[in-house]
Amino acid sequence: MASRLIYTTDKGLYCEKGDFYIDPWRPVERAIVTHAHSDHARWGSRQYLCAEPGAKILRHRIGADAQIESVAYAKKLTLNDTTVSFHPAGHILGSSQIRVEHKGEVWVVSGDYKLDADPTCEPYEPVKCHTFITESTFGLPIYTWQTNEELFSDINAWWEKNKREGKTSLLLAYALGKAQRLLKGVDTSIGPIYTHGAVESLNQVYLQSGIALPETIRLSSMPRGTKFAGALVLAPPSAYATPWQRQLNPVSAAFASGWMRVRGIRRRRSLDKGFPVSDHCDWPSLLKAVHLTGAENVLVTHGYSQILVRYLQEQGLNADALSTQYEGEEETTSSENAAAEEGATNEGSSNEDSENGSADEVQE
Ligand SMILES: [Zn+2]
Ligand SMILES: [Zn+2]
Repeated sequence: MASRLIYTTDKGLYCEKGDFYIDPWRPVERAIVTHAHSDHARWGSRQYLCAEPGAKILRHRIGADAQIESVAYAKKLTLNDTTVSFHPAGHILGSSQIRVEHKGEVWVVSGDYKLDADPTCEPYEPVKCHTFITESTFGLPIYTWQTNEELFSDINAWWEKNKREGKTSLLLAYALGKAQRLLKGVDTSIGPIYTHGAVESLNQVYLQSGIALPETIRLSSMPRGTKFAGALVLAPPSAYATPWQRQLNPVSAAFASGWMRVRGIRRRRSLDKGFPVSDHCDWPSLLKAVHLTGAENVLVTHGYSQILVRYLQEQGLNADALSTQYEGEEETTSSENAAAEEGATNEGSSNEDSENGSADEVQE
């Protein structure tokens, strides 16, 4: 393995020629960070390097004392014997693919990414390489996303229906990235939009980073006894069915997640509605992205890696699984594995806090 430009160690993905780690899961000297979700950006490293648009979010997630440097997309840095650059991944604000070049050999680490349009971040940019390290969170053919038009027309129709019935619309989504993408896409003429504190604090960081968002009101700033009928409330998935939710009654709760593509999951969690939307690639996008890189070698990390590996091998590529400690998309209020639903193998564990941060963010 040591002959590979990037390989996994017990601390994370390591590039020996450049002497840096990418999204390490243990503290290291120099961490290059693809994006600020908590399974990719962890505390304790001595130096962090990220793309400029994501610097404020990373600071917000890993603390005021962390040593964080940022660099513009596409700017080439020399790190020991390598040339390193960040390229937009389209996943959340500031999310990056990391391009590493050594003596003409080019590797790209995707981090998490999507190809669908998202007005809260820079669009995914294909980067040519010899070896592509890709995630595979939704690497099964059943996972295909609808268009943004279809998605938002469904969400708006649900909100309007709840409003007519005198209910509050509780939309559960990752506090970082998903919530801002949904907020930016909904029809704000339907009613006021309130936020859970975990969502609001990240909205503020997005605003400080120059991303315009519709007006929101922090729910906890309202006097006791306020009625929220007709309003939309954005909250992280872990707020679901908690005492916090009671103030919203009568309420219709919906979860916005790629896992909602599998109908049984929503039913079992007794959610009123599920919107299949993800900031990860669906199956067609994964295949398209792999193709666009022109890579002969593909290493597949978290998700349905074995299935994607086998498919790519059948296409004539050198594909292999790469074991990491990244987690897939959170599956609402339970740690049950969505894969069980499909009888498939999901190597990624499902940690409730994986993408909406530590527990303190959901207590309000
Ligand atoms: Zn992520
Ligand atoms: Zn991830």
